[in-house]
Amino acid sequence: ALIPNSDEARDIAYHFHAYTDARDHEASAPLIIDRAEGAYVYDSNGKRYLEGMAGLWSVAVGFGEKRLVDAAARQMQRLSFGHNFTSRTHMPAIDLAEKLVKIAPVPMSKVFFTNSGSEANDTVIKMIWYRSNALGQPQRKKIIARERAYHGVTLASGSLTAFSHNHASFDMPIANVLRTGSPHFWRDAEAGETEEDFATRRANELEQLILSEGPDSIAAFFGEPVLGAGGVVTPPRTYWEKIQAVLGKYDVLLVADEVVCGFGRTGKMFGSETYDIKPDIMVLSKALSSSYLPISAILVNDKVYQTIADESHRIGTFGHGFTGGAHPVAAAVALENIAVIEDRDLVGNAARVGQYLRDRLHRFSDHPLVGEVRGVGLVAAVELHRKNFPSAAAFKDGQLGSQANAYLAEEGVLLRAAVDALTICPPLTITTEDADLLVEKIGLVLDRMASELS
Ligand code: PMP
Repeated sequence: ALIPNSDEARDIAYHFHAYTDARDHEASAPLIIDRAEGAYVYDSNGKRYLEGMAGLWSVAVGFGEKRLVDAAARQMQRLSFGHNFTSRTHMPAIDLAEKLVKIAPVPMSKVFFTNSGSEANDTVIKMIWYRSNALGQPQRKKIIARERAYHGVTLASGSLTAFSHNHASFDMPIANVLRTGSPHFWRDAEAGETEEDFATRRANELEQLILSEGPDSIAAFFGEPVLGAGGVVTPPRTYWEKIQAVLGKYDVLLVADEVVCGFGRTGKMFGSETYDIKPDIMVLSKALSSSYLPISAILVNDKVYQTIADESHRIGTFGHGFTGGAHPVAAAVALENIAVIEDRDLVGNAARVGQYLRDRLHRFSDHPLVGEVRGVGLVAAVELHRKNFPSAAAFKDGQLGSQANAYLAEEGVLLRAAVDALTICPPLTITTEDADLLVEKIGLVLDRMASELS
């Protein structure tokens, strides 16, 4: 029960939350996080938690990193705000754009700044339609996204997101969005199918979709190298190669949504490097600034940029932009964040500690409550499975995962659940001791739940 005048009651008085049943929320106490340091956050009672999700897949360099705090303060004092509308800009935007083009895993030519992953993906859709117009193919508007995808929540980016609760009541998806299957082998493979067969089937399904819609109506394919919010879905080894072969055959643009994978998460700087993806457009956010401040960036290759430039010249403008886009303080923080990632070899740390963590998580593969353990770099999932527990039928989809998360929070570990997959995405700075703590607590909670369900 809520205590009157407690922080919890104050929370409910004036603000309501993203992705929450508001009626449930009115009756339950939220977890109020008060401060954070490194990989740990502290609630308003001083209880410590390992932030096993880096916030929301975000905080690469850890919390409270002094270099980022100082970079923000310096930039606040020098130029607290500047925009990049019409012919104005500022040095942090120029420097950050140059840095992003230099570290991109494939040749990219220009950068456009936005404030969130959703805004960035929305903007990409407009860019793609500009391109089709410039090519004299205005009918080429259809965009393919996958089951289990998460690309944001705005009307356009949210239409690419696959979860039905994003669509019901919102008159979504918008027109011209097509859906194809996800690379979730464990859930979606047919009996007897190998990973290779499954990847081939997904590529064939994509080709059939393109052919049935008419190749000259298909503009682009959006994909996260590893699907994050959809449950840390790591693709079969040959999946991206086969998908890219189909896209290449029909001249369909490839957009890599690196909002979760970018900046070291997969054990390389970008998920596109891990899976040898050659995108035309890359979308970056979250770990771009370790989410100290909101910022997102779109990288486009020269082929795409030239057509956007042609079309904007024909119309007289690229009629799109946000007041806070390329915010100088956020851009300065992002630059320093990338420097910290490089100076401390946090990409290497993600690969090393990630391997250590996954080796230990794999011990749970035989646990009666676990269907699959999967991951790459420092992102992983423990997929819960109910087949050994008839009493689990009473739980709705996702309730097992949220129950496990509630127990983990009691134990001082914060994770999230994608349906019933526990998702794990800690700051890239974690040590093997932090990884041991995570594994120990996940083990405790799996056993507790298994014994309660038995
Ligand atoms: N793309 C991906 C892959 C994401 O995971 C998210 C957010 N979880 C977004 C886009 C949307 O980002 P935002 O919440 O900043 O709008």
